[in-house]
Amino acid sequence: MTCPSPRPKLPWRAGVGVAATALMALPAYGAFAQTGSSSAGALTVDDGYLSEPVSPFDTESPAVANLDPALRAAIQQAATDARRDGVRIMINSGWRSGRYQQHLLDDAIASYGPSEADRRVNGPDRSTHVTGKAVDAGPPVADRWLQRHGAAYGLCQVYANEIWHYELTTRPGRSCPPQLPDASAD
Ligand SMILES: [Zn+2]
Repeated sequence: MTCPSPRPKLPWRAGVGVAATALMALPAYGAFAQTGSSSAGALTVDDGYLSEPVSPFDTESPAVANLDPALRAAIQQAATDARRDGVRIMINSGWRSGRYQQHLLDDAIASYGPSEADRRVNGPDRSTHVTGKAVDAGPPVADRWLQRHGAAYGLCQVYANEIWHYELTTRPGRSCPPQLPDASAD
């Protein structure tokens, strides 16, 4: 698996409140100082860091712009069709830089230990987020919509423990492959 939660609880965001949210609207938003991480420097939007969910059509955002074009087109088409059912599909995480992924892994190891971290987060060398071939969709109603209809667009839930993580792993209209239990299985 490639991400610890639908909205990863990142330690440097702990306690983020109204004031910090306002700061995030400044041009340097997303550039938070980090503690306890081996990856130096603050993550920014250029790492694919998202301070809040974005539309699949927000191609100004590197998290969306750097997705594999076929995956981006699929999630955009799904989002368009989901709207007819009153469901708005948003992207909580898309493309991530290698150092962003490394940060997530370091954070998971610090929080859960190496073995549980392995089930929760892939390293930069294995994460499909780093190659732009995975999206974390939300909110939960959107995930449920994708569980029902995603295969029509080639979009499949990959890990049984991540209802939000979708990749293009089938041809549109075909069945999805069996899910892996978690990230340690691939
Ligand atoms: Zn993911």
